[in-house]
Formats: sequence, C-alpha cells, structure tokens
Amino acid sequence: MLLKDRVAIITGGGSGIGQGVAGRFAKEGAKLMLVDLNPAGLEETAAQVKDAGAEVETFEADVSVTEQVEAFFAKTVEHFGRLDICVNNAGIGNPPAPLVQMTDEGFDRTVAVNLRGVFLCMRAAGRQMLQQGDGGRIISVASQAGKTGFAFLSPYCATKAGVILMSKAMAKEVGASNITVNVVCPGTIDTPLLHGTLDPIIEAQGTTLEEWALKSGSPIPLNRIGYPRDVANLITFLASDDADYMTGQAINISGGQEMH
Ligand code: NAP
Repeated sequence: MLLKDRVAIITGGGSGIGQGVAGRFAKEGAKLMLVDLNPAGLEETAAQVKDAGAEVETFEADVSVTEQVEAFFAKTVEHFGRLDICVNNAGIGNPPAPLVQMTDEGFDRTVAVNLRGVFLCMRAAGRQMLQQGDGGRIISVASQAGKTGFAFLSPYCATKAGVILMSKAMAKEVGASNITVNVVCPGTIDTPLLHGTLDPIIEAQGTTLEEWALKSGSPIPLNRIGYPRDVANLITFLASDDADYMTGQAINISGGQEMH
C-alpha cells in the first residue's frame, strides 16, 4: 500500500476526479476527509471508500469561504490527529462565453472557487504541515487550460494558470520543511463537469463526447479521452514516497493533448 495510514483531505471528493482519487487513495490505505458542496455526492463516495475498507469522514463546505475551509481542516486534525496530504480538486467551469460577453458574476465565481478556494486550502494545509514539522504533500488540480488559452473559457484558464504559479511560489517557500507542492493538469476527462460544459455542443452536433474530443481542434495522441482513474494514478504517485524529490511541477495528464 502506497499511502498506508496517511491522512488526506480531498476537496470536490463527491464527483468525477475527486471521487476517482478517493477510491484509489482508499485502496492505498489512506484515511480520508472528503469535502464537497454536494451532500449526495459525498455520501456516494463515502460508501464506495468504506466498501474498500477506508476510514472516512465527510464535510459539506464551500472551498471559497474562509471559515468553512478552516472548519474542515480543524475537523480533520481533531478526528485523525494530523494531515499528510491535501488534494485541492474542487473546481467549476465558467459559463462558456467570449471574454467580451463574460459577466462579472461568471468571472467572480470562477475566481472564487478555482483560485481563492485553492489558495485557502493551500494556506491551511501549509500551516498545519509546518506545525507538524515532518513534511507533507499539497497537490492541486489545475488543467491543460492553465497552459493554453481556450476560447470561451477565459476566467477558467486564468484561474488554472494562477494555481500553477501559486504552487510554484509556495513550493519554494516550504521545500526546506519537506513539504512538496505540485499540480496536475488534466486534459479531457469524462466527468459530470465536462458533460455539463460540452453536452449541449455534442448533442447539437449529433456526436458523442469521445468522438467530439478526438475530432476537436486539439488532437489526443493516445486516441481516447481520459477517466478519473488516469488522474488518480498521477495524484497517487505525487502523494507517495516515490515522488519524494519532486516539487513545483505542473504535470499534464492528457493522453498527450497538451505537451508543454
Ligand atoms: P465535477 O465532476 O463537477 O466534480 C467537482 C466537484 O466539486 C463537484 O462535486 C462539485 O459540486 C464540487 N464543488 C464545486 N464547487 C465547489 C466549492 N465551491 N466547494 C466545494 N466543492 C465544490 O468536476 P471534475 O471534472 O471532476 O473536476 C475536478 C477538477 O478537475 C476541477 O478543478 C476541474 O477544473 C479539473 N479539471 C477537470 C477536467 C475535465 O475534463 N473533467 C479537465 C481539467 C481539469 P457540485 O456538483 O455541487 O458543483
């Protein structure tokens, strides 16, 4: 087991990639605090990881609200005694629109969840890990959209680029305390978030998500879309001892769709 008895917070653990990470972490022996806005999703993931034998707690919270973030970090330490791994995965897509038509509300909510939410969790995780004094792992889920601008997703791209550089900066600050800070950049991953964004387009074109992704302007060399398990494999590696000497990296997990 790669993560035996490590205590991990996973935000957005009630759906998609977060649910995939929770399932894999459970198999690797981690103890889990799952956080999400969606109580039904939290229950579903908690039932799955309990079946896999994991110790699990859930917390309904909005990662963009300081008090709520501080509350689930406090609950984690109160219940499990410490924190080893923090996976900042909760995120939203912006309402697709050209920048010149983007609303203030669409911009502000995307920044609040995808950038401020990750900042609040990185800060709380860093404080707890520094206080413990024996290292830790902070892993944030950005996107290939944080490396390449995608039309109609300008706030989303900006927040994901922000997560990448915020993580590189923090990696330099806490490296001497053996806390690693890394980012994963998924490509096209089959989750409710992606369906929510693309289904209207796909239905209008009479195609499937897989077909659309393979024919879209940005080809996938490995010739398939990704699944939460693909991202979970990379996050598990970054959380494990095998990644001891890696920090400040933003790693693509996209079937080769993004290469820089
Ligand atoms: P998802 O299936 O929608 O899962 C995200 C979960 O986070 C949902 O349960 C959502 O709850 C929750 N959430 C949203 N806002 C929150 C908040 N403020 N506080 C707490 N929880 C919140 O999406 P996903 O595709 O797995 O995305 C996970 C991460 O991967 C995101 O950061 C996303 O940007 C990134 N990503 C995804 C893809 C992709 O192709 N799927 C590609 C690149 C990057 P609700 O359902 O109630 O909103």
